Amino acid sequence: MEIVRSVYTDLIFHIFAHVKVDNASDIYDEAYIASVEKELGRKTVIPESVTAYYCANFERLAFVNFLPYFMAKSADEVCFMIRQVGMTTEEDVAKFINPFCDVIKELSADYVDYWERKAKERQVSYEELKSYVNEQASVMSRFFEDLHGMTNTKLMVIISEGLRCNGRATIMGDTCIVTLPMPSEQYSMPQIFMQLVHECTHMITDPLLDSIRMDDGSHDVAEYQVMLFDLWLFERDDSKLRDEYVKWLSQETLDECDQKLSEEQKKKLRALLF
Ligand SMILES: [Zn+2]
Repeated sequence: MEIVRSVYTDLIFHIFAHVKVDNASDIYDEAYIASVEKELGRKTVIPESVTAYYCANFERLAFVNFLPYFMAKSADEVCFMIRQVGMTTEEDVAKFINPFCDVIKELSADYVDYWERKAKERQVSYEELKSYVNEQASVMSRFFEDLHGMTNTKLMVIISEGLRCNGRATIMGDTCIVTLPMPSEQYSMPQIFMQLVHECTHMITDPLLDSIRMDDGSHDVAEYQVMLFDLWLFERDDSKLRDEYVKWLSQETLDECDQKLSEEQKKKLRALLF
């Protein structure tokens, strides 16, 4: 497993931390906005019309969360990647892509300065997190080997300053890229590792569903599947983490996952584990 940091991945999540989205992809974070504004010495402004258009056309525009920005060397390259994606309409380009890229370019120089300062400051906790994740991954090597076998991908982890809660995962070619937050008051190292497992589990359990959308309830089912699968997984592989997991998600949430899935769905889910 490769673990890296990426300034342009972070720039995108930094921007999305300022965007209120009315679905589970939301990473809007007021506390972050207040603290980063001081350190950046400026505001990050996304016009309301851009946010509104993004939310109204989310299924088509969500790809902006998932491009391999870690490969970009400049804001221009970031925008080039976004513009390369062919499934957008002319209206998307005018009302979202263009103004979104304007935000990226306008913010980029200040953000890169800030990010480099922050990366130095956080070097020690970043190294600590890396060792922790590697150690835990070897405790749970059976799961990571299964993941590799089932998806035929290698795993790349991006540790993000911009992504405050949640994780993001995507498959690019032969690589599964998972983005995770840095440790903070609300996010401990075990929670970050469990988030990694959560994102990886999606790769294994999502194929049980025909499609996953935010607007028809199927995304919720995908989440129930992952949360329940991970409970069984930690029970199997790491009982200490299992207790942390129940504390983190709460027994009620896990009971709800269990109730929301049919016996048939649970049978299929278990078959993936044992
Ligand atoms: Zn999830």
